[in-house]
Amino acid sequence: MKYSTLEKEYKRAKEYINNADAVLITAGAGMGVDSGLPDFRGKEGFWKAYPIAKKLGLRFEQMANPQWFKKNPKLAWAFYGHRLNLYRNTEPHEGFKKILELGKSKNNEYFVFTSNVDGQFQKAGFPGEKIVEVHGSIHHLQCTQPCSRDIWSADGVNVEIDMEKFEAKEPLPECIHCGEIARPNILMFGDWYWIEDRTAQQEERLEKWLNKVKYKNLKLVIIEIGAGKAVPTVRMFSERIASEFYAPLIRINPRDYEVPYDKDISIPTGGLEGIKNIVDL
Ligand SMILES: [Zn+2]
Repeated sequence: MKYSTLEKEYKRAKEYINNADAVLITAGAGMGVDSGLPDFRGKEGFWKAYPIAKKLGLRFEQMANPQWFKKNPKLAWAFYGHRLNLYRNTEPHEGFKKILELGKSKNNEYFVFTSNVDGQFQKAGFPGEKIVEVHGSIHHLQCTQPCSRDIWSADGVNVEIDMEKFEAKEPLPECIHCGEIARPNILMFGDWYWIEDRTAQQEERLEKWLNKVKYKNLKLVIIEIGAGKAVPTVRMFSERIASEFYAPLIRINPRDYEVPYDKDISIPTGGLEGIKNIVDL
């Protein structure tokens, strides 16, 4: 895209944002890249983050599978424990703050819909009741059986990992009821046992908010950041809400940045750069 065209798009995006009464923020893995988080793009991307998985010949889809908690819980918890520690130790980049300030400036009429399980929106100061984590959260646990529908916080649960062997050290996180191995409350691949209750409650709150936006006739703008096509949950959601509300969609993504309609805006940059260039304009 030519520089002048991009400038125009930034201006158009800024106008939409200025005129909006409500902001829906949708985000995929690309949102975390500027905080230094891996986005597991393609098998090479995943293997770059986890060289040991390459040795084992495991792609992300195979690694992120609940079967490992039964077959090889130390391996399962090496992968998820490493990510839990990584997300706990990562500071969200300043783009999160800018988006939060924008949301607050709209009389607090904002909501977040993300496929990220990393809890970075909460860490950046977004209130939990304004976030949908559609694939769950690594900061919450459930039973692997499961013996109940309970979901509990992973706060205080520490997983130590032998990175050379890529094995979690004992004791592994356990179910608070039955003592079986616990697992993150994340929707994995081929997952029949994910307990969706926490996410369902979040979705109910979003539904209510969207009803309010509709009922009050608030002008909605959708800002989508770093949502790819591999698992298109976030993109599809953005597009569905955009057409349902006749709302402009601002899509920020360095790849696959095309948008469905002329009214929509395509920003072919990383998350932080795109956010900065729009919000600071
Ligand atoms: Zn249990």
